[in-house]
Amino acid sequence: MQQSNVKELVSEFKDKELDEIMRYFLAAYAGSSVKDQDRIALASSLGAEDQVLTHIILSIKPEARIFILDTGRLHNETYELMSRTMKRYEMKYEFLFPESADVEAMESQDGPDLFYESIENRKKCCFFRKVKPLEKILSSLDVWITGLRKEQAVTRNALEKIAWDKANGLIKLNPLADWTEKQVWAYIKEHHVPYNKLHDQGYPSIGCAPCTRAVKPGEDLRAGRWWWETPEQKECGLHLVDGKLAGRRGSHGSSG
Ligand code: SF4
Repeated sequence: MQQSNVKELVSEFKDKELDEIMRYFLAAYAGSSVKDQDRIALASSLGAEDQVLTHIILSIKPEARIFILDTGRLHNETYELMSRTMKRYEMKYEFLFPESADVEAMESQDGPDLFYESIENRKKCCFFRKVKPLEKILSSLDVWITGLRKEQAVTRNALEKIAWDKANGLIKLNPLADWTEKQVWAYIKEHHVPYNKLHDQGYPSIGCAPCTRAVKPGEDLRAGRWWWETPEQKECGLHLVDGKLAGRRGSHGSSG
């Protein structure tokens, strides 16, 4: 896949419906045999948007690849949602864990809750628990699907539905880029999509348990993520900002 092909895809699918876009990409990047895995997958954080995409994708292709970055620090409610979703759709996730040697070395040096000490420590933890495992799976894909939306954060204002991920050399498909929060929840209710019980307890955005809190009425959607940092710093390295894999160790930016 080349960056130039992406420009053609952007123009071809500019005015197409979400269902048509998903059908095209799931078919175009399917594996050519049972042994040959699909080159397209959804990166699910089990958030509301990812649950919507899980529903849509599995209704088109029941065996589509959906992977989870299990940091080892997720809420119990998130693990419970994984089980509920697996039963509802009769599917299995691909689980990605951090390298145990990385986590052992990090915690031995800085302790288990290092992320509260400094932004550098927080990004180090996100790097070992999320970014590094993600980079590993992205190297096997041509397209990764995300549930990112423009209105989620100041760092996502320029988000496009189909974009070239320069740092990882693949297409990043953000089908819900233009959706509002209201649309997401209307879809969930209409289609009885399973969702995280924490959403009913004031958590609009859910990440790792020690780095997520409930938000107060009127607060920004991502105010509860890394709440001790400023909005411009609230990304964890999973998503590009201005063409850079922001949030990698030693750089700034990106999400989860
Ligand atoms: S969100 Fe918090 S616990 Fe999770 S990987 Fe990042 S710093 Fe570590």
